[in-house]
Amino acid sequence: MSRLVIVSNRVGPLKDTGRAGGLAVALVDALNETGGLWFGWSGGISEEGTFGPLQEGGSRKVSMATIDMTQADYDEFYVGFANKTLWPVLHYRLDLAVFDRRAEEGYRRVNERFAVRLRPLVQSDDIIWVHDYHFLSLAAELRAMDVGNPIGFFLHIPFPAPEILAGLPNAATLVRRMLAYDVIGFQSKRCADNFRRFAIEELDLVLEGEDVLKVEGRRVTARAFPIGIDAAGYSKQAMSPEARRAMARMEKLLNGRQQIIGVDRIDYSKGLPERFRAFERLLEDYPENRGRVSLMQVAPPSRSELDAYVEIRRELEELTGHVNGRFGDLDWVPIRYMTRSFQRRVLAGIYRSSRVALVTPLRDGMNLVAKEYVAAQRAEDPGVVVLSRFAGAAEQMPEALIVNPHSAEGVAASLQHALTMSLEERRQRWQALFDRLCEEDAASWARSFMDTLRQVH
Ligand code: UDP
Repeated sequence: MSRLVIVSNRVGPLKDTGRAGGLAVALVDALNETGGLWFGWSGGISEEGTFGPLQEGGSRKVSMATIDMTQADYDEFYVGFANKTLWPVLHYRLDLAVFDRRAEEGYRRVNERFAVRLRPLVQSDDIIWVHDYHFLSLAAELRAMDVGNPIGFFLHIPFPAPEILAGLPNAATLVRRMLAYDVIGFQSKRCADNFRRFAIEELDLVLEGEDVLKVEGRRVTARAFPIGIDAAGYSKQAMSPEARRAMARMEKLLNGRQQIIGVDRIDYSKGLPERFRAFERLLEDYPENRGRVSLMQVAPPSRSELDAYVEIRRELEELTGHVNGRFGDLDWVPIRYMTRSFQRRVLAGIYRSSRVALVTPLRDGMNLVAKEYVAAQRAEDPGVVVLSRFAGAAEQMPEALIVNPHSAEGVAASLQHALTMSLEERRQRWQALFDRLCEEDAASWARSFMDTLRQVH
């Protein structure tokens, strides 16, 4: 079987540290199966940048190769075009996007430089699988250097409707460059459909069958491959000593009260202020929950160097103070808001102690927290997921309570439904969700993408 080469901005870890998500684990499994190479950014910044030495490591079967960036690469490519332009636009936030020609040029340059450094590492029968929005044009650069290998791409974040993407200057050029890939994978049917629509409406391409675009005599498959988690593995982690210790501490604190749990990096796409307002609305509209139900929000900061993130942190602190000041009581704090992270094993225990998961992003490629919550539940007494219709996960999780995150009233009503749901209904919904999670897990995701890539090329 041909060797697999994976390219992503951040590389590794090869061992499950308890922090890495199911994604890294699935990729490592795939690499181990065929032997492989994982190539990307070292995380380091140096004067030589992408011209510096190749940093090598890894295991017997999987080698890792990384390179540095310069400060200018980091500012223009990573902070600039990737996170101030593409991230907001792909999450439907044209209003937050910065359009800057230097950043766009930096993005093109870094994609080209990574291709130049990857080129000599590629063997003739390798298959190459590139990940995420940092490297939309890597295949175009590799093709320009005569790399004829099968190259696939998977987008971990949403792909917006053409009406939105058209607001990005030079969107057509960028999408045309994406067509150098043989297979382009998306988290949801909706996103794959958005991509094909852009290709048809804006680039005048023609569709063959359901999801194959004809591009100058070549065929490009654009299809949904929804990411799964290691459901069986994670449900075992929910019984680990770390998880049990977390549960014991939570149970002591909750003292018979119910808990709603939210876990999200601080990001404007996650709908956190809207969520806090919906919880306030629950306490207003259904006063029987006062003193009885609390919201715990775990919110590790991410990309805190960006202005938009400073603003949202301020807003969340204000809202927490407002709700707690308004409703708090001697022995009950309505919102417990923590800007720290926890190991995934510890999270599993927190999930198990929580009656409801509140997962209400305004846009999300997939959302693994919703899936991990389900995997961590007790089969005999499972909790309920309240899930945004705008998370990719909603397509695979119709038994969750699906909500519009913009409607505080609607989310509050669904929370009330979740909090009062009978054990029988909770079990039925959970069983259907859990069975599907086991079937469509992380390993089957990686397998089905790679099978498609091998077949189409
Ligand atoms: N996570 C974690 N510790 C935390 C918060 C989150 O390990 O304190 C993990 C979580 O278990 C999940 C991932 O981070 O696997 C978040 O993935 P998701 O798809 O929900 O959101 P993203 O951050 O990728 O937008």
